[in-house]
Amino acid sequence: MAIQKTEAFVLKTQAFHSSSLIITFFSKTFGKLRGLAKGVRREREVRGAIYELFTHVEIIFYEKTRSDLHLVSEASIIESHDRLRTDLNTIAYASYFSEMADLVTEVHDPHPQIFELLDFSFRFLPSLPPENLAKLFEVKLLNEIGWLPYLENCLNCRESKFESGFFSIKQGAFFCPNCAPQFPDARPLSREGLTTLRFYIAHNLEEAIKFRITSKTQLELEKLMEQFMAYRLPRPLHSRMFMQKIRPALASR
Ligand SMILES: [Zn+2]
Repeated sequence: MAIQKTEAFVLKTQAFHSSSLIITFFSKTFGKLRGLAKGVRREREVRGAIYELFTHVEIIFYEKTRSDLHLVSEASIIESHDRLRTDLNTIAYASYFSEMADLVTEVHDPHPQIFELLDFSFRFLPSLPPENLAKLFEVKLLNEIGWLPYLENCLNCRESKFESGFFSIKQGAFFCPNCAPQFPDARPLSREGLTTLRFYIAHNLEEAIKFRITSKTQLELEKLMEQFMAYRLPRPLHSRMFMQKIRPALASR
């Protein structure tokens, strides 16, 4: 059993026996990890708070070789992200980011870019328009895991001069207007929509979030990503359903 140390975000927790927790982390070094923290619920005031959702922690754990559930021996808070847990809207979005990162990754598959994406998203969620951040999050995450690979060129003829065209949900790919009729599931993608997706993929997070996007494009991409995820994800996202439920209440505040 090797002793390992890494920074991580708490994505999910689950009670285990009377006093322990099973925690799903997204770590900087190892990607997604599952850890058992013993005795933390008995002394919740002291140690349980470390494992609040969205908390940025440093953990020391014993790496099990025969199981993917490791024993977390020590943890300390780097950033509690308390602000995310005080507002229904930020809770909903941060839960959505956590659930998506959990659902599309495997344990022990390092993705430092996803760690960075969570860091950026949790840090700026209280101060940025959440819908824009959510679009950027989705595109960056799906691109990082290889689900959005072909947006520069038409997948069929490799032509790149087209600035609008068609997007195939099934193939996660872009087709030019000439080739699109051969792919009946491909739906129109506007020039602004395609430009936004390309910009998000080509630029770092700080640059990408500054990209101005109209509410029309926002809506177009929201629909597209929703259909794409419904097709690709193994199950619907609970946090997304929650978000849609609370949306009318938030809009009327
Ligand atoms: Zn083509």
